[in-house]
Amino acid sequence: METIFQPDAIIIGSGLAGLTAAMEITNAGKKVLLIDQETEQNIGGQAFWSFGGLFLINSPQQRRMGIKDSYELALQDWKGTAGFDRKEDYWPRKWAEAYLKFASQEKYEYISRLGIKLMFMVGWAERGDGSANGHGNSVPRFHVSWGTGTGVVKPFVEKAYQAQKKGLLQMKFRHRVTELIVENGKLKGVKGDILEDDDKARGVETNRNVISQFEYTAPHIIIASGGIGANHELVRKNWPERLGTAPENMVCGVPAYVDGKMIGIAENAGAHIINRDRMWHYTEGIQNWDPIWPKHGIRILPGPSSLWFDAKGNRLPAPFLPGFDTLGTLKYIQNTGFSYSWFILTQKIIKKEFALSGSEQNPDITNKDYPLFLKRIFGKKAPGPVEAFKEHGKDFIVSDHLEDLVKKMNELSGDHLLDYEKIKSQIEARDRELDNKFSKDTQVNYIRSTRNYLGDKLGRVAAPHKILDPKNGPLIAVRLNILTRKTLGGIKTNLSGQVLKEDESVLEGLYAVGEAAGFGGGGMHGYRALEGTFLGGCIFSGMKAGKYIAELKTDNSNT
Ligand SMILES: Cc1cc2nc3c(=O)[nH]c(=O)nc-3n(C[C@H](O)[C@H](O)[C@H](O)COP(=O)(O)OP(=O)(O)OC[C@H]3O[C@@H](n4cnc5c(N)ncnc54)[C@H](O)[C@@H]3O)c2cc1C
Repeated sequence: METIFQPDAIIIGSGLAGLTAAMEITNAGKKVLLIDQETEQNIGGQAFWSFGGLFLINSPQQRRMGIKDSYELALQDWKGTAGFDRKEDYWPRKWAEAYLKFASQEKYEYISRLGIKLMFMVGWAERGDGSANGHGNSVPRFHVSWGTGTGVVKPFVEKAYQAQKKGLLQMKFRHRVTELIVENGKLKGVKGDILEDDDKARGVETNRNVISQFEYTAPHIIIASGGIGANHELVRKNWPERLGTAPENMVCGVPAYVDGKMIGIAENAGAHIINRDRMWHYTEGIQNWDPIWPKHGIRILPGPSSLWFDAKGNRLPAPFLPGFDTLGTLKYIQNTGFSYSWFILTQKIIKKEFALSGSEQNPDITNKDYPLFLKRIFGKKAPGPVEAFKEHGKDFIVSDHLEDLVKKMNELSGDHLLDYEKIKSQIEARDRELDNKFSKDTQVNYIRSTRNYLGDKLGRVAAPHKILDPKNGPLIAVRLNILTRKTLGGIKTNLSGQVLKEDESVLEGLYAVGEAAGFGGGGMHGYRALEGTFLGGCIFSGMKAGKYIAELKTDNSNT
């Protein structure tokens, strides 16, 4: 006779946050029903596609690279970056402090125990706005997992299948939750649609044909449904005035299933949604010439040397340098009235400084291929996927002559706003600043100082050189689009991941983790992020809610 599987917890979403919570709960011998609207081949969610960058404080890798980091320094950076300034920031602040403690103490052990390995070089993301107590990382903290996002997600997926074998976990794919069942102010279960199966490859948009309905109950329901990045209608609706008008054209940095609908469903059940206007979108998006999901865009993770021009051909002022201040730059660009901008660079810069975010764009690291990785550092060409973009990417132009490059840039945009003489004089002026060992150009000075960090010198920052010297060419121009990615606000929760109502009381039985909860509390990043904090935020918030449920004495009160 078939035994009925009565779960202690239902988790909505099989991304990194949901899988972490599932692991914690099943580790305690309790039962979990894991539900996802997508197909089984999409298990792991966005984390699979991620670059696998993890924010750690005072890690062994940092110490080996000579980086002095501490909880206090990270807290200073986080506060300057988050800019918490609202009454609703009470729980986000608490989550931020707890997360920083985790990242400086327990996180390294937690991921190491799972077999996640980190690369020896620590990257320096989001270098900041130029002030010690303002936005940005004072030191490199971006630890790329050996295996990129696939390496991060693999042990969590394995743990899920092990728990399934033991009878502690059931997974139901193609189950889309459309309603949370609330009775007497307490969560009872979930309802939704069963979607027709689909054999499309991971990441490709699947059908939404409804074939029947479902309803399940459990005493604890965890929302781990991700953010809103693929729902451009919602992104536009939530777009804050402080960032100018929402861009007309955006590329999409996440798969279609990051549709944000579950956040509205949680709100209908009584959850308090806060900081909806806080989002983390990138200014260096390029259209993928070989797309997987709709409007697929790739983010360039740039080193600091490319010259950045707005649509009208004005060089962006400091601190809006490549890789420094994502939202500051976004605001600057939006205020120009055009939602695209340009990099102009050389072959020497693209070779050393262009990394593309995404597991599929980094086959050397994703496949743990040492020889290919060494070629990235010591080879003459840029990594294969970067060269492929140079050749096939719609946003790339290559030429030996600046005049021809500018002509083609004007043709590509169709706006014809760029004046060759104006661009030339700005680049010549910048190049003249290289004639001495000292300079008044902030970007030139920065390139020089950053090479004092071994990681930058070896693998990230090209030796300073003149852009217009033909021996450094050919010249390359890249049109940069706004790329939607992360949701920084979301469902308000306390430190156990319990969902809170507007009056701060607990919505009994409901929890939220990962991006749906703004990575904890409804927005632990505040306005801006230090990078690599999203995967870690999923692990931390999934762990907190999972442990809380795991440690509760009574369960299955619905059975
Ligand atoms: C290309 C790329 C690069 C990135 N690089 C980094 C990086 O280097 N470092 C970093 O920290 N972060 C990075 N990120 C961000 C990070 O990967 C995500 O923020 C994180 O993985 C989100 O995980 P999650 O579990 O909260 O949600 P998701 O991974 O989005 O999973 C949510 C799941 O819920 C399901 N779902 C949604 N609604 C419903 C519903 N109504 N019913 C049933 N199921 C539902 C979805 O189908 C999905 O499977 C990157 C992201 C991308 C896409």
